[in-house]
Amino acid sequence: MKPINDILPLLDKPGNIAIVTHQKPDADAMGSSLGLYHFLKQLDHDVTVISPTNWARWLNWMPGIKAVLDYEMQRERAEGALDKADLLFCLDFNTFIRTKNMAPKLAALTCTKILIDHHREPDEKSFDYGISDTSRSSTCEMVYDLILVSGSKDKITTEVAECIYAGVVADTGSFRFPIVSANVHRLVADLKDKGLLHTPVHEALYDNFLENRLRFVGHVLLNRMEIFYEYNTALIAIPKADLIKYDIKTGDTEGLVNYPMSIQGIKLAALVIDRDEERKWSFRSKDDFDCNTFARKYFEGGGHFNASGGRSSDSLQETIKKFMRAIKENESQLQ
Ligand code: 5GP
Ligand code: MN
Repeated sequence: MKPINDILPLLDKPGNIAIVTHQKPDADAMGSSLGLYHFLKQLDHDVTVISPTNWARWLNWMPGIKAVLDYEMQRERAEGALDKADLLFCLDFNTFIRTKNMAPKLAALTCTKILIDHHREPDEKSFDYGISDTSRSSTCEMVYDLILVSGSKDKITTEVAECIYAGVVADTGSFRFPIVSANVHRLVADLKDKGLLHTPVHEALYDNFLENRLRFVGHVLLNRMEIFYEYNTALIAIPKADLIKYDIKTGDTEGLVNYPMSIQGIKLAALVIDRDEERKWSFRSKDDFDCNTFARKYFEGGGHFNASGGRSSDSLQETIKKFMRAIKENESQLQ
């Protein structure tokens, strides 16, 4: 994988560009994709953003989102855009498996593939150019840096700024995680200088749910959360019936895994959701507990040191049993 800055000459001549991100994109995935989209359009490229799946409705405020293709729903158009692409940008994921049903299509493309990501253990051989930097708060921060290195600071419009800011806010836990560097705050200052109104972005991300979602959170915290103090661990397990009862849609469960982290002493919080196709895990940790390794070892997943995800084909009960065995095995790291 050649350095990301080597792609800059490739952006000089207008061409066809596809931008893809991970399944069920979050604010960083969608924000970085749309931030880059608005930037590249100003360079006269023909740009298409493709999401492997649908996304949370609370992302629908993002400028440009109406043009994003959902690969599951608009497969023909999405494949058309991929087939004609000269450049493929892969944002906020580092192995094609994270794009679910789109993975074989991406792997088979022969165009130039570019990675911009901050997750651990990238599949570098799948990409021609790129940057994989786990010290970065967000993929949005990396897109911002790319725009700066290209010498196009003037192309940071309010659309670009809103998209980038959303991803930075989301991936830094609103600027609280240790990964937040002075560079992140300089980025924010810069976006503010460009006219960014930050409060509407926070409201769009966090004050934009329907009543049923808050009732669901109440139910889950009361009835579905268990605390294992001997392992400093919390587990939230959500059966399918709850999702149906509360009419839970994509994105409504985001952030749930963070709640137990507010309990004194909790070092690991886990959330498992019984989805139709799989049991989906989310992990969050504090201090020196490595969520990436944990998710990789037990639940076919990965991510960051203090935040990761995974999956299982087992039943909800079976995957919970496996989790209990896993925390016993990791008892010493959880003390
Ligand atoms: P979340 O729990 O918010 O879904 O994900 C936490 C972090 O782990 C995110 O950065 C996400 O991209 C990553 N992640 C989530 N699920 C998976 C997975 O199944 N595999 C890998 N490699 N990373 C994941
Ligand atoms: Mn991210």
